[in-house]
Amino acid sequence: MKQYVMAIDQGTTSSRAIVFDRNGNIVSSSQKEHEQIFPRAGWVEHDPVEIWDNVREVIGSALSKSNLTSHDIATVGITNQRETAVVWDRTTGRPVYNAIVWQDTRTQDIVDELARYGGVDRFKKQVGLPLATYFSGTKIKWILDNVEGARTKADAGDLIFGTTDSWVVWNLTGGSADDGIHVTDVTNASRTLFMDLETLQWDNNILEDFGVPRSMMPEIRSSSEVYGAVHHSQLLRGVPVAGILGDQQAATFGQAAFGKGEAKNTYGTGCFLIFNTGEEIVHSSNGLLTTLAYKLGDEKPHYALEGSIAVTGSLIQWLRDNLGLIDSAPEVEALAASVPDNGGAYFVPAFSGLFAPYWRPDARGALVGLTRFVTRAHIARAALEATAFQTREVLEAVNADSGVSLTELKVDGGMVANDALMQFQADILGVAVVRPRIVETTALGAAYAAGLAIGFWKDLGELTANWGEDKRWAPQMDDAERFRQLRLWKKAVTKSMDWIDEDVK
Ligand code: ADP
Repeated sequence: MKQYVMAIDQGTTSSRAIVFDRNGNIVSSSQKEHEQIFPRAGWVEHDPVEIWDNVREVIGSALSKSNLTSHDIATVGITNQRETAVVWDRTTGRPVYNAIVWQDTRTQDIVDELARYGGVDRFKKQVGLPLATYFSGTKIKWILDNVEGARTKADAGDLIFGTTDSWVVWNLTGGSADDGIHVTDVTNASRTLFMDLETLQWDNNILEDFGVPRSMMPEIRSSSEVYGAVHHSQLLRGVPVAGILGDQQAATFGQAAFGKGEAKNTYGTGCFLIFNTGEEIVHSSNGLLTTLAYKLGDEKPHYALEGSIAVTGSLIQWLRDNLGLIDSAPEVEALAASVPDNGGAYFVPAFSGLFAPYWRPDARGALVGLTRFVTRAHIARAALEATAFQTREVLEAVNADSGVSLTELKVDGGMVANDALMQFQADILGVAVVRPRIVETTALGAAYAAGLAIGFWKDLGELTANWGEDKRWAPQMDDAERFRQLRLWKKAVTKSMDWIDEDVK
């Protein structure tokens, strides 16, 4: 009997293959980074061919490291960087342009143009998202408008689109017009701007408004079902591909936050808080996105509210790479701990505008409250605190939209290694912060989705039993101090706004 499930995590900076056992423990893993291509300020691209090569390579090395073969792997699940758009030729399998990455802001003109009629919330009721450069629909339109010959070919039905889950599945299952399976799951589809939240189908009117032919779009499937079998790669030949979840939804699933009212926050390059609203579609009045949490086979979908914060861990990288304040990200802990507080400094990292709950593209970074007293240690501290303050504001929005107050927050991601930050987070939230035993929640969630589809795991209850608490931080700050700090943070946020105007880009 096959004992393991493989997850392929096609992320923003790397692709990974991780093999899990029945208890959710990691048996083997392999990772390879791909090039970040920055052709101009604000543009971020990946080479899809390099990504597919890396995916094949990590599959091979994850298997060989532990002497495994396809006979040991019951199923494969995919999780992926969301919104990153690939357009390729159905016949040759070649991309017509590099993948345009979720962080890329080149489509602001497209957003402005579409928002002229009805504003940025023009499609929000149907798709749960405001018009923003972040989402893949604007990136598909850019490729069709700007890559020579693309629109003619697309109109003739020769080009197809996918986020990187689609790209990987299409290649795994054959990679050609004859046998490549062209699918995506509801969670990825809910990040395009094109999927109707009720019908879970592409909306023809919105596709038309964007000028994107429906023939380009993948079939929308559930997050957990057998899509097809691996065909192309010798390594996993015949193994069913049975799970797809966008990375943040996969982390939610890996955290076993299956039910209404459960939430997780992932602290990486950015922060993504997902709050499960069960079978109910909750429209936000507080700057959150309405998105799909997951859908298991024929069962009803689960929805979520999401607060996306653009800059958190990447601010620590900026201290390292642009200011040279530290040599490595973990060093920020000691530097911040060398002072008892932020010395009055507040750092609003609106480097590419503010995401949730403000959605202000006109904002830019602001470091305020400076006096001659402030040192590099205070700045390091203010940078860390910015992550906690931003998370607090997203949680306030979640509480307001959902009408319930979250009583604890499950956390994961690279920054949760930082003990002082997690304590400050609990202090600023006023609720406990909890880290699970298995922190590779993103890959685990994809493995779970695939394993459920083929009966490797029986049901959600069995997965919930795998979740175990590793560490808990309880709030220690008194209310008066918490509210004082929040007031100052909110004031600092106002200082970052209204910076971009016609002669400042
Ligand atoms: P992603 O998946 O988005 O690439 P990770 O979950 O791997 O990110 O987290 C890496 C991020 O965490 C980096 O942006 C890094 O700056 C930050 N980071 C890593 N260690 C620490 C630490 N000890 N304190 C604060 N931030 C950290």
